[in-house]
Amino acid sequence: NGFVRMGLAPELVQAVADLGYTDPTAVQADVIPRALPTGGKGEQAFIDLMVSSQTGSGKTAAFLLPVLHTLIQMQAEEAERERAEQQRAAAEAAARGEEPPKRKRRNPTDPRSFKPAAPGALVLCPTRELAQQVAHDAIGLVQHCRGLRIANVVGGMPYQVQIARLQNANLVVATPGRLLDLQRSGQIKLDEVRFLVVDEADRMLDLGFADDLAEVNRLTAARQQTMMFSATFAPRIQQLASRVMRQPQRIQI
Ligand code: AMP
Repeated sequence: NGFVRMGLAPELVQAVADLGYTDPTAVQADVIPRALPTGGKGEQAFIDLMVSSQTGSGKTAAFLLPVLHTLIQMQAEEAERERAEQQRAAAEAAARGEEPPKRKRRNPTDPRSFKPAAPGALVLCPTRELAQQVAHDAIGLVQHCRGLRIANVVGGMPYQVQIARLQNANLVVATPGRLLDLQRSGQIKLDEVRFLVVDEADRMLDLGFADDLAEVNRLTAARQQTMMFSATFAPRIQQLASRVMRQPQRIQI
């Protein structure tokens, strides 16, 4: 399987094999190695990418796989930190002759335990149909990942259903309008987003989402990586790219 050599997490390699992908498509072979972080633990660096590619090229997995890979790594590091912290607390308690401290559990049915969703990755799509397709693909790719949650945020779906699914989501796939509604009402915060993907940027502008994109750009200013996909590199797309990315590398398939 050609995905093994890319250094992707084994859970993801297993998922692409289950989906019947034996080799990366052209856009995947170009994007995935460049989108993965360079540098070791704690000093990872990411580059921004501007990619022209068509639907049917495999572009969805091209951005989902590196983002999911890094989310898996971040979760493993977080779990490692928590384990170390618990061991330290238990050792301190033992030195004082006390029982080890119990872990606090959140009761999800208690309204006081409500926390806004704070995803680590965000994919913006111009239409509800595309967002649902991307979320569906993401769910297929995380089938072997424990604790990685995908949520879909699109207009037309009842708020309550969406909000329930949003809790604990690591990756949110959204159309801009509904996302910003939920942000303004405090259901989701975007300041922990590290990875932003703008899919079909040309259609995004055609549909009048320029201001919404500017707002998401501002709300996710602390992110580490941005990838933009578009059918063309028309001047207006390049202008958008220069506003939302830092020295993006261009990939033209
Ligand atoms: P997309 O361009 O992302 O809409 O993908 C087009 C189709 O290709 C989707 O149905 C994917 O499931 C499929 N696909 C994506 N990557 C691969 C691959 N490496 N091998 C075979 N099929 C793939």
